Amino acid sequence: MHPKISTETADLIHRLPKTETHLHIEGALPYALLQSLDPERFAAPQACWAPDFKWLCFEDFEAHLIEHAVQWFTTPERYHEAAKVIFAGHLAQNVRYVETSFHAGIIEFLGIPGPEILDAIRAAVPEGLEVRVFMGMARNSYNATLAPVLEDCMTWDGLAGIDLHGIESLPLEAWTPKLWKKARDHGLITKAHAGEFGPAAHVREAIEVLGVQRIQHGIRAVEDPAVVELAIRKGVTFDVCPISNVKLDVIDTLEAHPIRRFFDQGLRCTVSTDDPFSFGNSLEDEYAALSAGLKFSNDELKQVAKNGFEVALVDAATRVGWMAEVDAV
Ligand SMILES: [Zn+2]
Repeated sequence: MHPKISTETADLIHRLPKTETHLHIEGALPYALLQSLDPERFAAPQACWAPDFKWLCFEDFEAHLIEHAVQWFTTPERYHEAAKVIFAGHLAQNVRYVETSFHAGIIEFLGIPGPEILDAIRAAVPEGLEVRVFMGMARNSYNATLAPVLEDCMTWDGLAGIDLHGIESLPLEAWTPKLWKKARDHGLITKAHAGEFGPAAHVREAIEVLGVQRIQHGIRAVEDPAVVELAIRKGVTFDVCPISNVKLDVIDTLEAHPIRRFFDQGLRCTVSTDDPFSFGNSLEDEYAALSAGLKFSNDELKQVAKNGFEVALVDAATRVGWMAEVDAV
């Protein structure tokens, strides 16, 4: 998706130091790596990259992504190789800080130990980029194989936190609030996908029952002003992915996206690409979408970048330095 913006704004977006805080590493699989496996089969660009493409439903999107991701992500070395390409793409867009998650389901399906995936991703971080790695899990992940892994992950060296992923229509199970509290007690950051396909009540549940300060998407909170007010009062941040929301048809058009209203109301929002493998978007496209579709001024784009640095898991001096760099653009 390449929304039309002026050269001046495109230049500002490029030069702006940025963050990306909602990125699934399997969903960021560089297509060129798949092409290297099978140049014939993956010769053509994907149809889902077309600007006006809409996925039929979340399940359709997820099946396509898993079908491709499992062909690449078979070993820790493959995670490392993909992460190197992904992070180089961040540096090329002047991104300074990234939060990415890997999916716990891989541990179950392919039998790769979680700490090895974590180490492989962290070892791929280039100079000039700060990366925090999260483990994502589905609402029904707590089975005989994964439960011990999820309980143990608090002790993994270098894991920044956990995130709740996947099909949002599944109910929140009793293990989840307990695990989320345990993670925070161990100093981890907790996130949850909520209010994407699910109602505003899911956002309230993520804040009040799971206790998260970081909501992934959260956009359907717009349907209940009291939930938006709750998120603002509690200082919660929404890590929003506008192009993902339009292509998954959570929102009809970019122009109707609630991030404009959230921003105007004082709810802290960041922007990210979510799963660029399936949307064909870059982080600069997301900023361009805010500018072209939602009339964010250049100063407002700078504030969106600052929002990411405000929640970044770094020391105060690093944060102050990045803020000053944004101001200087
Ligand atoms: Zn996501």
